[in-house]
Amino acid sequence: TSTPEVLPIANRFATELPELSLPWQAEDAPDPRLLVLNEPLADELGIEPATLRGVTGARLLTGNLAPVGATPVAQAYAGHQFGGYSPRLGDGRALLVGELTDRDGNLRDLHLKGSGRTPFSRGGDGRAAVGPMLREYVISEAMHALRIPTTRSLAVVATGRAVRRETDLPGAVLARVASSHLRVGSFQYAAATGDVELVRRLADHAISRHHPGAARAENPALALLEAVATVQADLVARWMLVGFVHGVMNTDNMTISGETIDYGPCAFMEAFDPATVYSSIDTGGRYAYGNQPLVAEWNLARFAETLLPLVADDQDRAVELATKTLGTFRSRYGASYATGLLAKIGLASDPDDAVAADLGDQLLALLHANRVDWTSGFRALVDAARGDAEPLRGLVVDLPGLDTWLARWREHGPDADLMDRTNPVYVPRNHLVEEALDAATAGDLEPFHQLLDVIHHPFHERPGLERFAQPAPQDFGRYTTYC
Ligand code: AMP
Ligand code: MG
Ligand code: MG
Repeated sequence: TSTPEVLPIANRFATELPELSLPWQAEDAPDPRLLVLNEPLADELGIEPATLRGVTGARLLTGNLAPVGATPVAQAYAGHQFGGYSPRLGDGRALLVGELTDRDGNLRDLHLKGSGRTPFSRGGDGRAAVGPMLREYVISEAMHALRIPTTRSLAVVATGRAVRRETDLPGAVLARVASSHLRVGSFQYAAATGDVELVRRLADHAISRHHPGAARAENPALALLEAVATVQADLVARWMLVGFVHGVMNTDNMTISGETIDYGPCAFMEAFDPATVYSSIDTGGRYAYGNQPLVAEWNLARFAETLLPLVADDQDRAVELATKTLGTFRSRYGASYATGLLAKIGLASDPDDAVAADLGDQLLALLHANRVDWTSGFRALVDAARGDAEPLRGLVVDLPGLDTWLARWREHGPDADLMDRTNPVYVPRNHLVEEALDAATAGDLEPFHQLLDVIHHPFHERPGLERFAQPAPQDFGRYTTYC
């Protein structure tokens, strides 16, 4: 049962950092059935999509058949979950199959989620249900289409086994592709061993895979910290600009690459309110929409702590240097968000332009006070840039406030074409995602495929898709996500 040439795979993580994983095998899937396959992504990875269809494909994508030369491993990591430290998390229901080389010559992890118990499972069953895996598929692919760095989804395969939750649900495995699965929590795990040379090897591995420029820096560990702070600042700014609420920004869910990872209780904000929370377990609002930049900075401080022994021999000096470097997050985030917000209102101004910045702030205050749907509110603003303010006026109660703002804004000559490129028409709306997942769980994949088709082209308005551009109807009620 060997599979030559199908998936030429490397084992770089497993062989370079054996202390950080355990070789492991997926549990068997009694009746694997491919539910969705990402053909363009397969192609990007140099895999002939046909090889992932059929019996062999389903077995590869559930881990029942390992590619030739692969050493699947469960990765070890630690992490702060809601601020509390867990020394041993790790892949409790996932495996890293290995690394593929994509058409651009970049290494990409092939990872299976829902592949059965591992030594890191603790009380968990190691499994995943069809609904949540399709949810990760559609939201990660939406993020990619929105030009937001993210792990990708290659396929979802139903296992043919029931998964016990509140009820019995059909089980599934998600094949996830990422530029790596290195997390802040990977560094926390390595640092907690007390083996500084292990942290150094991990840092070198991370630098070589994601931030090669840091290798040439005078202080590579500090340069790695700065590079991660930079990519995370840009990432979180992009989340904020599309109204994305990650929901569980634990340090084990923050990548070193700067890709969004772990689509659990995430959701897209509708009525604009910085206090927006969707996750059922986030009762304190730690991971609320408006807190995300602060949490990212807090997580980066945990990352910085792991690097201190590499930064300088003298502890005080290391703390001083790392603190200074961490400070770059705030200014980078601020500039990235400000530039993005100005583009959303059609102004290509310098983010330091105080008048333009004030316009942005005032608009946010208006949208918040009037609880305007984030995505359609900005689309209505594009209409206003083209001369028709009525759609936006229909969303706002404070019309005098809006009209005053619109008059000031028009003086700046907003560029409607820039706004078209920066304000998506379609995001995966919570009620539509739920509708598609409920149908899929009951065996009808049609609504899921239609939703995928819509979110693949988020900036291109198409006739007949009006309901995909609207917020949830009132009777959908308050939306809560579970993970
Ligand atoms: P997450 O909140 O998704 O980042 O997961 C946190 C930790 O819980 C990770 O170590 C996961 O591997 C583990 N985990 C989540 N669900 C399961 C499950 N059903 N079985 C075993 N481990 C799980
Ligand atoms: Mg996770
Ligand atoms: Mg998760």
